[in-house]
Amino acid sequence: MTTIGFIGLGNMGGGMAANLARAGHAVRAFDLSNGALDKAGQVGCYKASSMLDAVKGAEVVVTMLPAGQHVRGIYLGDAGIIENARDKTLLIDSSTIDIESARAVIAAAQAKGLDMVDAPVSGGVAAAAAGSLTFMVGGTKPAFAKAQPILGQMGKNIFHAGAAGNGQVAKVCNNMLLGIHMIGTCEAFALAEKLGLDAQTFYDISSTASGQNWSMTSYCPAPGPVPNAPSNNDYKAGFSAAMMLKDLRLAGDAASAAKAATPLGAQAEALYALMEASGKDDLDFSGIIKLINGTL
Ligand code: NAD
Repeated sequence: MTTIGFIGLGNMGGGMAANLARAGHAVRAFDLSNGALDKAGQVGCYKASSMLDAVKGAEVVVTMLPAGQHVRGIYLGDAGIIENARDKTLLIDSSTIDIESARAVIAAAQAKGLDMVDAPVSGGVAAAAAGSLTFMVGGTKPAFAKAQPILGQMGKNIFHAGAAGNGQVAKVCNNMLLGIHMIGTCEAFALAEKLGLDAQTFYDISSTASGQNWSMTSYCPAPGPVPNAPSNNDYKAGFSAAMMLKDLRLAGDAASAAKAATPLGAQAEALYALMEASGKDDLDFSGIIKLINGTL
């Protein structure tokens, strides 16, 4: 049994903390939202009264927060986790954040002699609850080795992506590709329909031909071919267009900083920003087919 401080008990963190408690760890949970904290209490976590109370005595601290500013805010400074964690505490940030913040926070932890990894996840709320997330981990080999068993109790696939920040690199590059092939898939289905080819017939052909891709075969944006896809449930998210836009913006910012050309990533970002502007970004990200076929 390990004493684990867990901060950020939202849609994702709530399920992850519950899995650690279920695995027999003493989980000291904290969230600014009392509702989220109460839920953690109901699944066997200790309800900490503050962030520092959650960190008190913890051998491992896991954070699952919205964005880079929250992660910097909670880790850095005199009142932050790094300054107040006990010696040898392992720090794991699983939030999806900008690479620069991830690297800055990990450098600050290392300067205090603490091991820290960035460990963003792939897989949504259902995978967080089921303990079947994929973790993409950045950090030193020893830090990864220490984090692996804990991450294994919240996820199925744990990858070491390399040095600090590389977990975030893997995450934004993967999601940029996902956004691009989702939009491409939407265009193909919308065009097929306009030209008189129904979705199921196009799916049967393309899914066994060279157009085949994950957005088509696991998450088809056209209703019908993939029964459990959000397209058959009025595009209820799933993984919302807003979250996809967040990740595309992170990818775009990283590309600008690295002077990398990502013209299709930029186009995908612009299209998801149109969903945001139309107030429909709470739809699943596959709902972008409605923007493409004029039914949004
Ligand atoms: P969420 O908004 O549901 O949860 C975030 C929680 O952090 C909230 O409960 C909030 O109250 C809490 N919080 C914020 N600042 C805090 C602070 N200073 N102290 C304590 N608690 C604080 O978000 P989520 O959907 O759980 O996502 C968390 C992270 O996981 C994000 O970075 C997101 O991009 C990433 N992610 C989400 C999904 C998804 O499908 N939801 C999938 C993959 C990755």
